[in-house]
Amino acid sequence: MGSVQIVTTILAAAITAVAVWLAVRAVMKMTAVIRLGQPAPERFADKGARTAKMLVETAGHTRMLKWSVVGAAHWFVMVGFIVLSLLVLEAYFEVVTPGGGLPIVGHWTVFGLATEWIGILGLIGIVVLMAIRLRNRPTRPGGLSRFTGSTMWQGYFVEWVVLLVLIFGFVIRGFKVATDHFEYPVWATPLSHAVGAVLPDWSAGVSVAALIKIAISMTWLIVISLNVTMGVAWHRFLAFPNIFFKRDPGKPAGSGLGPLRPMTSEGKPLDFEEADPEKDQFGVAQVEQFTWKGLLDFSTCTECGRCQSQCPAWNTGKPLSPKLLVLSLRDHAYAKAPYLLAGGGKDLTGEEKATEAQLAHMDVLALAEADRPLIGTAEEGGVIDPDVLWSCTTCGACVEQCPVDIEHVDHIVDMRRYQVLIESSFPSEAGVMLRNLENKGNPWGAPQNTREDWTKGLDFEVPRVGEVEDFEYLFWVGCAGAFEDRAKKTTRAVATLLNEAGVSFAILGEGETCSGDPARRIGNEFVFQMLAQQNVETLNEAFDGREKSKRKIVATCPHCFNTLGNEYGQLGGEFEVVHHTQLLAHLVSAGKLTPVQPVDGGVTYHDPCYLGRHNRIFAAPREVLGDSIQGELTEMPRNSERSFCCGAGGARMWMEEKIGKRINVDRVEEAMSTGAKTIAVGCPFCSTMLNDGVNGKGAGEDVEVVDVASVLLRSVKPDAPAGEKQTAPTPG
Ligand code: SF4
Ligand code: SF4
Repeated sequence: MGSVQIVTTILAAAITAVAVWLAVRAVMKMTAVIRLGQPAPERFADKGARTAKMLVETAGHTRMLKWSVVGAAHWFVMVGFIVLSLLVLEAYFEVVTPGGGLPIVGHWTVFGLATEWIGILGLIGIVVLMAIRLRNRPTRPGGLSRFTGSTMWQGYFVEWVVLLVLIFGFVIRGFKVATDHFEYPVWATPLSHAVGAVLPDWSAGVSVAALIKIAISMTWLIVISLNVTMGVAWHRFLAFPNIFFKRDPGKPAGSGLGPLRPMTSEGKPLDFEEADPEKDQFGVAQVEQFTWKGLLDFSTCTECGRCQSQCPAWNTGKPLSPKLLVLSLRDHAYAKAPYLLAGGGKDLTGEEKATEAQLAHMDVLALAEADRPLIGTAEEGGVIDPDVLWSCTTCGACVEQCPVDIEHVDHIVDMRRYQVLIESSFPSEAGVMLRNLENKGNPWGAPQNTREDWTKGLDFEVPRVGEVEDFEYLFWVGCAGAFEDRAKKTTRAVATLLNEAGVSFAILGEGETCSGDPARRIGNEFVFQMLAQQNVETLNEAFDGREKSKRKIVATCPHCFNTLGNEYGQLGGEFEVVHHTQLLAHLVSAGKLTPVQPVDGGVTYHDPCYLGRHNRIFAAPREVLGDSIQGELTEMPRNSERSFCCGAGGARMWMEEKIGKRINVDRVEEAMSTGAKTIAVGCPFCSTMLNDGVNGKGAGEDVEVVDVASVLLRSVKPDAPAGEKQTAPTPG
């Protein structure tokens, strides 16, 4: 070993020792913070499915590849990081001796070939990612950047480290070529040989370059160890467990879509007949009341901003960005952690748990952080502003986009639950809706005995459950379908089409009550459970004696469809629920309904969030429309998984939209930009919002918003009454 190698070896050992010590400390700290969360025992079920999903999602980059160029570049960088870590290991042999290399594999040409090409593709990948980050920098002129609010220096730092480590990998190899220490052939390692051709024959070059490569890698490790909230770096390790522990590994896309998590306390679902707010946790009031998976979610965020770029609230000037919400919760959790780890925290009655002695030497910043309300205005020092919390439509675009499977909607609703159930703090307009649900069983407060009014004037009898011997489908009408003028047209169109196709169906009539969706999404789990239990009982009675596959329900409202099909199981109600567009598509393909007259003027389709993104039903409504117009649908730029919300989900239908541009106006402008004369929808709330948007733009005479079922009815029975242009009743 020469004198240069003695120095490089000592320096490499020293910086590595410091980095490893700091990294171990950082991992222990992160583990301790994540363990502060509440139990989530269900996350340990189905380990086989979880492992398979984690491998597919990470190795295949299935979520990232939605953004094809970024996804491909990121894949090469990820593979480069994993495989080229071996080359960092090899550098430790090279600081000791210029001819050093990994034992055994280091002598294989195939190893030289694989690392050479992964290095080259990794270089291309990181340059692409750097260019994309620069092109989308928040300071660029014009447009909304997905990186707004991200800690930009961290992203640049990580990218430069990757770039330099890759470059120095080739410099080391180049010096090996120049000093005749390189054993791989030119055909396998062309770039290394090309670099070697321009480097001098300097024998110490290999060890010095290897030391620089180690120093860069260890500097990275030191920096990220000193910044445990640096998700852009830590996600390389945390993404694996975060994907493994996702809510539902069986789901093809965001596992936090579809049903909401039941309200839990100590890891067990809460039963309101026995729950006690002094003993049980009602929603989330403190950051440590999220489950440990919630805290893992916050730690894993890469700050990529994909969620933010799709969020309807953020895109229309509201203060909510799902990314910034996650980052605020993460930073708060880590800043408060020293206080919590010392034994601090409030019990469910608000009393401090720690003794004075435990908090005597506590850092003042941690104490100050502990005092911040989780939900509060800037003046109150709140972590999340109420306007942020209540701007969410629960559309799920953030969950759908997130490459590391963060479950934003669950976290938002958990915080809403505490605000509504314990603090009674929510936008006052929604109070009328909640009162109507409790007292009248529907958000409009309409009399229950008018639930069947929509049947009046139909030229056939609509059978009720109990009045018919048998029925194949229970037609769940929903509150909008029963009380809201425009939605009643859809209900009548569906009933007419089912009758026309000879489907045997029956309604519950006055036995039906609200599915509970608006109560659950606003956070009022108590009212949700009350309504849901009542419906589950009614439905179980209606289907008495039938196996699950024969307990069939057809619903026109995607919110009811989602709640009945995905959430009633949490309360003992197992049903086979289909959306009316699915059933209609089936009836057309089976030849039971025949579209005869093409609907002209151009048709575009707005995907309702709770049908499309939350439940992956994209094809059926398009098939029905395709058959009805006997031609091509005109798609909006944002469609299917990337559809843009109408603004009504998450009980936003019942709240005033006071900040920024109206979401429905944004969507209507997009729909009208296609030139289509008909905007087809599959949801009564979307219908109301888009109709209001069209009328607000003064385009009501030129553009019509209408349900898919009505479009089909016009084609199947051109003489049937149409007319969907009635105004909705105001909530009262
Ligand atoms: S659910 Fe929709 S509105 Fe809510 S934060 Fe996510 S993207 Fe934004
Ligand atoms: S929450 Fe997910 S999509 Fe949003 S910034 Fe973080 S990692 Fe990206």
